[in-house]
Amino acid sequence: TPLLEVKGLTAVIAETKQEILKGVNLVVHQGEIHAIMGKNGSGKSTFSKVVLVGHPDYEVTGGSVVFKGENLLDMEPEERSLAGLFMSFQAPIEIPGVNNIDFLHMAYNARRKKLGEPELGPLEVLGADLAILDEIDSGLDIDALRDVAKAVNGLLTPKNSVLMITHYRRLLEVIKPTCIHIMEDGRIIKTGDSSLAKVLEEKGYTSISAE
Ligand code: ADP
Ligand code: MG
Ligand code: MG
Repeated sequence: TPLLEVKGLTAVIAETKQEILKGVNLVVHQGEIHAIMGKNGSGKSTFSKVVLVGHPDYEVTGGSVVFKGENLLDMEPEERSLAGLFMSFQAPIEIPGVNNIDFLHMAYNARRKKLGEPELGPLEVLGADLAILDEIDSGLDIDALRDVAKAVNGLLTPKNSVLMITHYRRLLEVIKPTCIHIMEDGRIIKTGDSSLAKVLEEKGYTSISAE
């Protein structure tokens, strides 16, 4: 059975009712590394915020999100975290890579504390069943990015699943995804293996949306 199953997810901006997610389908199994790529403004962060925390800026208008057999959309942010979801928000430009990992570590230990379990070392930071990392590479120079990617790689075990959201291919050269999804205008318009990142780099996003 899938770890995470998103079916026909639609969501609007709560205030204006403008539809941002227009029917997202996605299935993640245990141990898989998925990447969502796409142009700026395609809805990647909205997707992560809706799935991970049920962010109040958005209203889910249709579809379903099932995590470990449970309806995630019914859960409070805390319950989602306790259920085994881990999220890192889009990194602010000023945060260098290493601090970003410190942040992951801190956030995870906060979760353990809540569960009454002892703090863990860095190798277990991503002990959550599914980590959704939204543009942890944004604003990093190539060296910092390599450090972050290596650190995340080092944190993974065959049991963890990861959903990486990124605009660039570089992160995916170090953390090799099982598959890559391209998001455009609130939908996943293409799914492929890790070679899709190379096509994107060479031909750009328009080559894919034109297909
Ligand atoms: P991405 O992460 O792919 O860059 P986002 O999910 O951040 O895309 O945004 C998708 C679209 O929705 C963009 O056009 C953005 O301006 C709009 N949007 C997202 N959240 C809000 C919000 N809270 N209020 C107004 N517009 C929003
Ligand atoms: Mg953006
Ligand atoms: Mg974003």
